[in-house]
Amino acid sequence: MIHSLQFRLLLAFVLVILVAIGTVSIFVVRNTGSELEQFDIRAEQNQAARTEFLLSYYYSINNMSWDGVQTIVEQMGTTEGQHIVVTDATGIIVANSQGNSLGKQYHTTAPGIKLFLPSPPSWGGRPTSSSQETVIGTLYINPENARPALTKNLADTINRFLLWGGLLAIAIALVLTLVLSRRISSPVRALTMTARKLGQGDFSQRVPSKGKGEMAELAQAFNSMADDIERDEKLRQNLVADTAHELRTPLSNLRGYLEAIKDDVVKPDATTINSLYEEVTLLTRLVDDLQELALAEASELKLVMQAEDITGVIKQAVVSFQSQAVDKGISLRTDLPDKLPLCDIDSQRIAQILHNLISNAVTHTPREGNITISARESGNHIEVTVADTGEGIPAEELPNIFERFYRVDRSRSRRTGGSGLGLTIAKRLVEAHGGKISVQSEPGKGSRFTFTVPISSDLINS
Ligand code: ADP
Repeated sequence: MIHSLQFRLLLAFVLVILVAIGTVSIFVVRNTGSELEQFDIRAEQNQAARTEFLLSYYYSINNMSWDGVQTIVEQMGTTEGQHIVVTDATGIIVANSQGNSLGKQYHTTAPGIKLFLPSPPSWGGRPTSSSQETVIGTLYINPENARPALTKNLADTINRFLLWGGLLAIAIALVLTLVLSRRISSPVRALTMTARKLGQGDFSQRVPSKGKGEMAELAQAFNSMADDIERDEKLRQNLVADTAHELRTPLSNLRGYLEAIKDDVVKPDATTINSLYEEVTLLTRLVDDLQELALAEASELKLVMQAEDITGVIKQAVVSFQSQAVDKGISLRTDLPDKLPLCDIDSQRIAQILHNLISNAVTHTPREGNITISARESGNHIEVTVADTGEGIPAEELPNIFERFYRVDRSRSRRTGGSGLGLTIAKRLVEAHGGKISVQSEPGKGSRFTFTVPISSDLINS
């Protein structure tokens, strides 16, 4: 519960609301409070000045007497909501907005405002210096409580509003949390469920990835990861099935021969032993290729890189196929520039790539065909091409030929001893060197396999 998304969201919302309200409240009480207090004092002063003026004015037009002022003061008290007391110059209460103690001496410690007789020509202004001498009484506004708690009331009201506002905001946050957390957590839950099913081996599971934003991106990334896992799993299953299938043929051939020998149907003569030997050789090569491929695919191939002249490796590879080519009546030749920059290569692996490509070319090129191995500099790479004038590969097969065990003509290739792994291994080895391999082919005209290897970094840097 504490770790649930819903709870954390709610906690975050409530915290944000509390911090916001707390900050506003502190701001209001600290800053606005003093502003309001100033405003309050000014308003009070204005009101006192008004009352002071009215009373002095009343006194002067009432024949210098306070008679009848009680009614006016009562009225003022009610209108202003204040307690007003007026005494004459001797301190006797002449008016009290609360109506009591009239005619009595007023005893108070509250500060009073002296009332002066206004000078006739300038009524309405501040008392003149001459009239200041004539004190006609004292005015007390709210004598018990020097100032009404207007400001405090206002601050209290604001705080109350903030409190209720906060509570309302928290209630809204609760609803929002429910809605939001459901919207956020439902794709997360879907992801968790799908991940679990994937983990249990159901690789067809995907999550809905509609819409935009981080969740949709996460769902898309998850789905593409699931695609990869499913493809890898299929490849793994295919590899096991294909490997069993590939091993079965030479094994059943061997078994057939051995049973025939056992049943005295075939004699264990040189020809039979030769056939047995060929089947075992085929098996060995298949197992070797498989091991090589497994290593390359697990990126565990230890390449012994050295800056080398690739033309030397090419020439050697061609020499090793020359007699085979002559036997088949094929012209096998090289087309190499006089000088090529050194490459960072593992020469044994490059020889293996060339071996696989030339061996394919020899196998698929008929009598009087040509095979040319060329190399040229291209940017930061050396480009090596094995071109033949052989049978070529149909366009629809081209995307597949680098796949494991893929053969254009399965029956024929098996007879010629191909494991269907040669190009796959070549591709992995080229990639391990940081290069690329590609093919162009036209049925009946021939094929061109091209791979690149990087020019030695020492040369590029210098
Ligand atoms: P294999 O061991 O069968 O040669 P590869 O992976 O080397 O396996 O090649 C895969 C398939 O690609 C071959 O079976 C063949 O059909 C086709 N292929 C490869 N090289 C050539 C080529 N030079 N000319 C025509 N077809 C080729």
